[in-house]
Formats: sequence, structure tokens, C-alpha cells
Amino acid sequence: MDILISEVGPRDGLQNAKRAMATADKHRWIAALAAAGLREIEVGSLVSPKLLPQMADTDEVARQARQIDGLTVLALAPNLKGAERGIAAGVHKLNFPVSASRTHSMANIRMTPEQAVEQVRQSAELCKGNPVVEVGISTAFDADASEDWVMQLAADLVAAGAASVGLSDTTGVANPAQVKRMFIRLRREIGDRAGAAHFHNTRGQGLANVVAALDAGVTTFDASQAGLGGCPYAPGATGNIVTEDLVWMLESMGLRTGIDLGLLIAARAILAEALPGEALYGHVVGTFQ
Ligand code: ZN
Repeated sequence: MDILISEVGPRDGLQNAKRAMATADKHRWIAALAAAGLREIEVGSLVSPKLLPQMADTDEVARQARQIDGLTVLALAPNLKGAERGIAAGVHKLNFPVSASRTHSMANIRMTPEQAVEQVRQSAELCKGNPVVEVGISTAFDADASEDWVMQLAADLVAAGAASVGLSDTTGVANPAQVKRMFIRLRREIGDRAGAAHFHNTRGQGLANVVAALDAGVTTFDASQAGLGGCPYAPGATGNIVTEDLVWMLESMGLRTGIDLGLLIAARAILAEALPGEALYGHVVGTFQ
């Protein structure tokens, strides 16, 4: 397999969806995604249920997903408490969001970036490699996070025990030239610990940024089925890049994803049924037969 697509819909998508998805539907959806060939799925967020009630069943969803053969189960954890829950649920990987932007960090996890690095350090010590601790640097491309600072943060995170550190365009402001430059720099800075690219399609730059990241040697991409998670007040606005479109692009470029596009598109029916009224995005779906 050339490219690993890490499906983040059940986490990034559902946490921004208008309504909560029932636990049984989450499991049906995750099983269908895995059956389509997705080998890694971020199944939810181990945050306080008070903050994100739609993620309250993540422990249970993770336990069920662990039963799917060959699937790497990933969950987001913002702190040590989340890491403890992830260990108990038996996830393979924990994804820590560490914001490069100080304002975003305070708003998102009520910690400074330095405090978030400390949470990663304590969690990595607790996990001892099982689960693996990964980090996506949120808002890595925002104007208030200098490239030097992002690289410093990446090096600090590796020193704190992160197995990989990727760059996330949380707010959808990245452009292809910047993406290529920063991923090349990231690899220079932390070598093979350089991790996934995570793009949002806010300004329609998502797939262009994927091509730029490919040029920089990135082989893992986050994406969300149907670009789930778009802002209900601005259609097409803030969702992740669409998994279906990403698969089509990569495969037509001659890269292998291991994903059956027909089965992947069929899994959209579960979303349509389980989340009535939610906008489902994607260009490939209309042309596929
Ligand atoms: Zn995101």
C-alpha cells in the first residue's frame, strides 16, 4: 500500500455534525468503512461528555471497533485522563491535538501549547507504546503560528515521546506552497517521526494541499467520508477533505490506497439514514457507477 488514509469522520465529522449519531449507527458505519478497505479509523474523542455529549460513547465505540479484524483504532485524547480511558478501551493509537496557535489552544483545550506538550509527555509515559501516542499540530498553518515555532513544537513533542507528529490545517487556511515547504521542513526536523497531513476544505484548497504534501513525501492523510462536519450556516465550508474524492484522486494518480471506492460510496447510505438533514459533500459520488 502506498498511502494510508486515516478516516476521521466518526471523530472530526461527528463532533461537528448537527445531531448526535446513535452508538449502534456509529458501529454500523465504522464496520462499513473498514469493509471498504479503510485500515485506520479515528472512532471518537475521549473528552469530557459535558463538553461534547455526541462523543460520550467513544469508549464503547472503540471497544466495538477493536473487534474488527485488521483495523487500527484511533481515538483523540486531549489530556492524561483521555489517555487513561484510551488504555482501558484498548485503542491502538491516541491522537493528541496540540495547537500551535495560543488562542486556539486556550479555546480548544484550555491549556497553553507548553501545557499540552506536558500532557503528551505524561500520557506517553503512561502508555509505554501501547497505545501509540501520536500528535497532530492543530492550526499549524495559521498566521499567528510562525513556521519556526511549529518546528520547535514538533521537536519538543518528539522529545516528549510522540511516535509521530503531523500538521493539521484546522481552520482551512493552508496553501500548497506553504504545505510543501512545511512538510519538507518537518521531515528535516524530526525525520521519520513526521506524521499525517490533516486538511480542511474551508477554502477549497484541500486536495491541492494533498498533492503538495505528496510532493514533500507525506504518506498518511486524514479525511472524512462525505466531508462530514461542514458548518450548517455555510454549505461546503469547514468539513475535512472528502475521503471518496481523495481515494479517487490518489488511485487515478497511480497510488494505491487499498480502498474499494464502490463500497466506500455505499457506506454513505448509513450516514444519510443515521444523520437526516446533514449535508453530505463530495464530487466523485455523482459520477460513480
Ligand atoms: Zn480537523
